[in-house]
Amino acid sequence: MTSNNHYDAIVLGAGPAGLTAGLYLSRAKLKTLILDEGTVGGQMVLTHEIANYPGVESISGYQLASIMKKQVKSFGCEIKGNTAVKYISLTGETKILELSDGTVFTSDTVVLSPGGKSRALGVPGEDNLKGKGISYCATCDGDFFTDKEIVVVGGGNSALEEAVSLTKYANRVTIVHQFDHFQAFEHAIEEARNNSKIDFIMKSEIASFNGNENLQSVDIKNLDTGVVSNFKTDGTFIFIGYVPNTEFLKKKIELNQWGEIVVGSDMSTSIEGVYAAGDSIAKRFRQVTTAVADGTIAALALSNYLNELKIKHKQLITV
Ligand SMILES: Cc1cc2nc3c(=O)[nH]c(=O)nc-3n(C[C@H](O)[C@H](O)[C@H](O)COP(=O)(O)OP(=O)(O)OC[C@H]3O[C@@H](n4cnc5c(N)ncnc54)[C@H](O)[C@@H]3O)c2cc1C
Repeated sequence: MTSNNHYDAIVLGAGPAGLTAGLYLSRAKLKTLILDEGTVGGQMVLTHEIANYPGVESISGYQLASIMKKQVKSFGCEIKGNTAVKYISLTGETKILELSDGTVFTSDTVVLSPGGKSRALGVPGEDNLKGKGISYCATCDGDFFTDKEIVVVGGGNSALEEAVSLTKYANRVTIVHQFDHFQAFEHAIEEARNNSKIDFIMKSEIASFNGNENLQSVDIKNLDTGVVSNFKTDGTFIFIGYVPNTEFLKKKIELNQWGEIVVGSDMSTSIEGVYAAGDSIAKRFRQVTTAVADGTIAALALSNYLNELKIKHKQLITV
């Protein structure tokens, strides 16, 4: 199919996964379009400092996103931010995407990289103090709390494992959990209980986050008595689950029970010609480096798929 609006590949989501896929695809001379309903850069642009991207000692997420965007564009990739997709059809040889303004794009292949977000508590002060003492990622922000006193919210495996890992940095870690028991593996519970730097406040929840410039304290409500007490803290890490941005893919592609996109080791999905990468796929670790790796694999597998498709079409014509 030849038309200005037809592409070899369309990438949905311009976080590090999508930008990396776009980089590899356009460098392989494939006509590529990246669409993002929000800001190009994804969760990176929310990140104050990234200190674990190899080769870059420390950089703001916004800056890293700008560099990635510039590099991707230099290979001829088209990028459109703040562009909502209204309709998407992934089945069939030609994939169809329609924007809210009625523009229709078609493509031989699609990379889905819509990312996701950590589940928020939804209590007063949380929105204002995100990145100013409230974090959802111990690997990303743990070392900013070296020798500090912090709170961890949650009672599953992630909360307990991350609480233990945070004791490498923090002086004290207080786990606040709403039930009187944890919903985690026994070994994770035991490890947390045996760690002398960890305290527990059970049957309690955060009622509010307090502070102007930075988080200074949390109000904790005892769920038995209803009593609210103020607790001084330098930081709070929230681990109460993760929500992939895949609502729009329900019934269109195979998702697991948590809404994550099911992929093979080459990032192929349940639909031929459709690949997925980054935080929206079913996986354990969510980082810029892992998103970049997924985007690379998806783009290389997709390029291979298109080559094989071309050979197949040529053979059909010569028969
Ligand atoms: C506050 C914070 C700090 C972090 N710090 C670090 C750190 O220090 N180091 C580190 O390695 N990782 C860090 N992370 C994690 C890291 O940012 C993510 O793992 C990574 O950005 C995931 O990349 P992604 O491309 O899969 O998805 P995302 O970055 O989530 O990007 C997905 C993009 O897709 C777009 N999108 C969603 N739905 C649609 C749709 N339907 N149509 C079109 N576009 C869509 C979104 O607007 C978004 O731009 C941090 C995350 C946060 C929130």
